[in-house]
Amino acid sequence: MEPAIYLDNNATTRVDPEVVAAMLPFFTEHFGNASSMHGFGTAAGAGLARARTQIQALLGAAHDHEVVFTSGGSESDTAAILSALAAYPERREIVTSAVEHPAVLSLCQYLAKQEGYRLHVIPVDERGRLDLEAYREALSERVAVVSIMWANNETGTLFPVEQLAEMAHALDIPFHTDAVQVVGKLPLKLADSAIDMLSLSGHKLHGPKGIGALYIKRGTRFRPLIRGGHQERGRRAGTENVPGIVGLGRAAELALAGLTDENTRVRALRDRLEQGLLARIDHCFVTGDVDNRLPNTANLAFEFIEGEAILLLLNREGVAASSGSACTSGSLEPSHVMRAMGIPYTAAHGATRFSLSRETTEAEIDRVVAVLPGIVERLRSLSPYWNAAEGTTKTFEPAYA
Ligand SMILES: *Cc1c(COP(=O)(O)O)cnc(C)c1O
Repeated sequence: MEPAIYLDNNATTRVDPEVVAAMLPFFTEHFGNASSMHGFGTAAGAGLARARTQIQALLGAAHDHEVVFTSGGSESDTAAILSALAAYPERREIVTSAVEHPAVLSLCQYLAKQEGYRLHVIPVDERGRLDLEAYREALSERVAVVSIMWANNETGTLFPVEQLAEMAHALDIPFHTDAVQVVGKLPLKLADSAIDMLSLSGHKLHGPKGIGALYIKRGTRFRPLIRGGHQERGRRAGTENVPGIVGLGRAAELALAGLTDENTRVRALRDRLEQGLLARIDHCFVTGDVDNRLPNTANLAFEFIEGEAILLLLNREGVAASSGSACTSGSLEPSHVMRAMGIPYTAAHGATRFSLSRETTEAEIDRVVAVLPGIVERLRSLSPYWNAAEGTTKTFEPAYA
């Protein structure tokens, strides 16, 4: 069997060997606590300081101390939202979108249900684009925080967060964005933006798991999620995960150097994959905003079959991808993202995400284009929905075919 083809980079990425190499000394000779007043502490502290400037550079941030290290994307999202609620206790409304990652969406739903906040969940259209009119209407002096993702993890669709942040600022509302899928894939210049807080995660950019950062623009009111020691200037207590932070810093440096490759070679490979599949497979279409999305993500809906079955057969061919639907015990519901876009069930069930990385090769893409048509044909021959629909017209107007 040929080596496995990994096209699930939006779920997690392989840690770059150079990241591992940068981390190793911080487990062994530089094991110190960065707060200690001796040479071991100094070495660890130097590792932290370096990583902070590496993240600052990737974000295009004005100051290195705008970067606070956390345990990952989920913690950064939670810290940002709860901080704003604590900083503006008189405001009782939250604005978010229908397609957020669960790290944001389930927290917001909890806050609405258990804490009585009024939640504005901004809808998207069939291509995953945010309803700007609904967004404008939801903004008011009663809103404590807006949290809207930069890029969707399932479809790669980008939201105009810089514009959304300016609209929020006009009403003095703090703006947070979950940018876990964007950081390392698109060039950023946060110094020039109105974004107050931004979440990122190490394992989505070839860094280690369990480490991330929250960008907090200078001047933003902030209330820590974890209180205790004075680490991170009092914004996140707890002895720093020094090896993880050093690894995240090195991963940021490598991602910055690879941005051009991501937006040229990786983007071209993604387009090659999509065009190859669309040309060979009927009744399939690309979901999301095809004109405005991440360079590495392709989400295709194959009508009348199940994404899980596709993944199983792909896996047998050594191809790792992901389905758009979350498999909840017993019932197979399409994901909240597919439902928010109004993708019909017959197509949403067959949504399959291919997420590439700088490690993806043309030979790998061509292998997927070669094996997937046969898999789809085989599954459709077994599908009662397909047999019923065969010969009929498409049930859904594709974003592009
Ligand atoms: C992966 C992901 C997260 C969660 O990050 P963790 O570091 O795994 O907690 C949050 N938001 C988005 C958009 C993601 O893709």
